[in-house]
Amino acid sequence: MSRRGAFDWGVETFATIASTDNEPLQIANPRFLGQSEATLKAAYQSRDTKKKFSRGWRLANKRVAQLHSKIARQRLDLHHKQSAQMVAGASAIFTEKLQPANMTRRPKPKQDETTGQDLPNGAAAKAGLNKAILDSAPAQFLGILRYKAAEAGVVYAEAPTRSLKPSQRCHACGAVVKKPLRERWHVCPCGASCGRDVNSALVLLAWGLEHVLSVFFAWLWLRNNRSQELAAYRGVQNFPLEP
Ligand SMILES: [Zn+2]
Repeated sequence: MSRRGAFDWGVETFATIASTDNEPLQIANPRFLGQSEATLKAAYQSRDTKKKFSRGWRLANKRVAQLHSKIARQRLDLHHKQSAQMVAGASAIFTEKLQPANMTRRPKPKQDETTGQDLPNGAAAKAGLNKAILDSAPAQFLGILRYKAAEAGVVYAEAPTRSLKPSQRCHACGAVVKKPLRERWHVCPCGASCGRDVNSALVLLAWGLEHVLSVFFAWLWLRNNRSQELAAYRGVQNFPLEP
């Protein structure tokens, strides 16, 4: 039996992988993307100091566009490599369904600590940047991963985030303990203690093994041993991994 793995999207990391073979593993965001993003931010700032539609502004705007396509190319390349790595040697991959509302987080309002007055938090600029950089990234990655998994005959399934609550549920005992996003460590009265992302990945792995693979193997067994009876049921020829 080859490796079955589950991964959770990180905030600081690209993904955290739990698998049946290895200790949980974190995949860091590559440094070059961070550098490109810093350059892009600087390019935006440089553009925004110029008079709109002036010659200087147009040149700066062109630079912004070029950097965007460079980052998009780097990211696509990365997504191909990382999904290929995940699929290699795996028999099943689980993750959670994307929540579109969570994909772009607005910067929190900042307040002056002594006066309590609102301070500029760069929300407008940052929202644009977040949108450009993050919007399509997780969906693109999952699209490539799903395709590569299908091609390699690897089971791929996305857990229902709302009912499973991978970030709030304890991987060891199943209890749901709410924790805010800034809480990076999972501690449970049952004694479980691990990183937040590691916990989520373990919850997703347990979900996949219990709710997807058991059904999948039952289906496979039926197909191999009871194919004639199965043929009586239309629509069960293709295992419905994706809702
Ligand atoms: Zn627990």
